[in-house]
Amino acid sequence: MPHPIITKQRRPAAAFRLSDYEETCATFTWDQARSWLCGLPDGGLNIAFEAVDRHVMAGHGGWEALRCVASDDSVTHVSYAELADGASRFANVLVGLGTAPGERVFTLMGRCRELYATVLGTLRARRVLCPLFAAFGPEPVRQRLALGDARVLVTTEALYRRKVEEIRHTLPGLTHVLLAGRVTDPPPGTEVLDRLMEHASPVFPVPRTDPEDMALLHFTSGTTGTPKGAVHVHEAVVAHHATAAFALDLGPGDVYWCTADPGWVTGTSYGIIAPLTHGATLVVDEGEFDVHRWYRILDTQRVAVWYTSPTAIRMLMRATPPGSGRALPGPYDLSALRFIASVGEPLNPEAVLWGQEVLGLPVHDNWWQTETGAIMIANYASSDIRPGSMGRPLPGVHAAILERGQDGRVALDDGHVRPVTTPGAEGELALRPGWPSMFRDYLNDRARYDACFVDGWYLTGDLAKRDADGWFWFVGRADDVIKSAGHLIGPFEVESALMEHPAVAEAGVIGRPDPVAGAVVKAFVSLRPGYEPQAALKRELLAFARRRLGPAVAPREIEFDQNLPRTRSGKVMRRLLRARELGLPEGDLSTLEGPVRDPRGEGRP
Ligand code: ATP
Ligand code: MG
Repeated sequence: MPHPIITKQRRPAAAFRLSDYEETCATFTWDQARSWLCGLPDGGLNIAFEAVDRHVMAGHGGWEALRCVASDDSVTHVSYAELADGASRFANVLVGLGTAPGERVFTLMGRCRELYATVLGTLRARRVLCPLFAAFGPEPVRQRLALGDARVLVTTEALYRRKVEEIRHTLPGLTHVLLAGRVTDPPPGTEVLDRLMEHASPVFPVPRTDPEDMALLHFTSGTTGTPKGAVHVHEAVVAHHATAAFALDLGPGDVYWCTADPGWVTGTSYGIIAPLTHGATLVVDEGEFDVHRWYRILDTQRVAVWYTSPTAIRMLMRATPPGSGRALPGPYDLSALRFIASVGEPLNPEAVLWGQEVLGLPVHDNWWQTETGAIMIANYASSDIRPGSMGRPLPGVHAAILERGQDGRVALDDGHVRPVTTPGAEGELALRPGWPSMFRDYLNDRARYDACFVDGWYLTGDLAKRDADGWFWFVGRADDVIKSAGHLIGPFEVESALMEHPAVAEAGVIGRPDPVAGAVVKAFVSLRPGYEPQAALKRELLAFARRRLGPAVAPREIEFDQNLPRTRSGKVMRRLLRARELGLPEGDLSTLEGPVRDPRGEGRP
């Protein structure tokens, strides 16, 4: 373990607290977590009811649910009672449109207040919610609307004109398109959401909802290939609620900000559902990313818990390097913030140390997947941090590292897997199914779903190791791991070592085929401001990495690239770096963010 353990000075302060990790793991059951929720009178379970109605019925309708910060920094507040009103109206709108339970309601919009009534109203009415990234181009939108059998789409006038109008005729099942926000000239075949909401009744009793009723359809990020549609059910709310207590330490009144895009699983599970079940106040940032703006929101809104991604943290690091004497956060007061949590990609130890040094704050890594529906492995809110480790399995989660055979697949003896017993040995990360937010299927792809399970384990497709104390360390995705001269090299380790150099802002590492070694390590590196992409710096970085990692693991080649390809959920797309390097087909680019080669793409610069 290259970095010292960070012992927390500040202990979590939320009202709801489970202080001791080991003790909680020993006693916790998912049934216990179920009892923390209310349930429907007939024994059913409905996500929207648990997120909003429960608080209103308990007399807390006045609690602040949403705090919307517009791009000009003006703030509006939405109470839990108002949110319940909006959700019920939207549920009535769906009934009025003639939709049936189980039918799919898609969203295609940025983070705006209309999103919340749409999501909660859909779940309340037992329709199925499927969120899309607003930055998708027309083809990825069409693909997913078709795959998911969309009946209703909620979007904005501008997004409709740019992305949906031209593909609408290919989607006969999409009978209703509702335009949220300001609408100046509704195109034919669309309806104005505000008008429908105005005329809808604010009373909508929650219908009988079976915990196993389908609730959410989430497409994966497409980091490794074609996105898959993961099916989740209402029961998932039990895991949303419990994991938000364990990993995010949320309680009533906590001001909480999740920066994840609403089109990604994190944006729904932890951007809407989980914090509401705790009675937290959600910051809804309707503006654009900007380092100053983000620090300003953390300061002026007195954010207590911040859930974001390694990419965002690296962007802040770029602007506020270590040793800069707190130059940027200096004018901002982050004293309300208890900790930062991060998800989506490996969190380099450098980022954790930066948080401690520059912001004076713990940064907690969390690991989970679209398929798992909720956080599985995390730096438990009250425990210490090992920089570079994902943390430990949350209570109720059983994780193991399974041995892999020569072919890279999980090794089997007579149909049985072999869990790795040696601390620090690498293998495939696997989970024992049985937690409530486990996906129930890949939509229309049962074979792919079945292939995820072996001998009673769910195989995650990620490689990891566990140390002697039970902490898990991410190695890489099974598809990304590099085999070089008999060594298995995880790209994350190499990227993290490069990031320790002051010139490096971000890195993406791949294996380039080599006749002698099988593969050699190549790193693509983006630089911090003030550094020039020169040959001398390349030589310096190669030598630096060799010193840190040894010649067997260090990159043989470095290429500067200020625009590393990433998914819209913020992950470096190593498969694309590899395809470009080898001149291979680029594969499915529907989730590619940034300078997109597809001329119809809508990538942000
Ligand atoms: P696809 O499955 O379509 O290739 P994806 O796996 O990126 O896309 P998500 O479900 O959004 O889609 O991401 C889950 C994956 O993200 C994990 O399997 C893991 O590889 C990575 N990940 C998430 N959190 C972490 C973390 N804390 N550390 C390392 N990797 C992480
Ligand atoms: Mg995946």
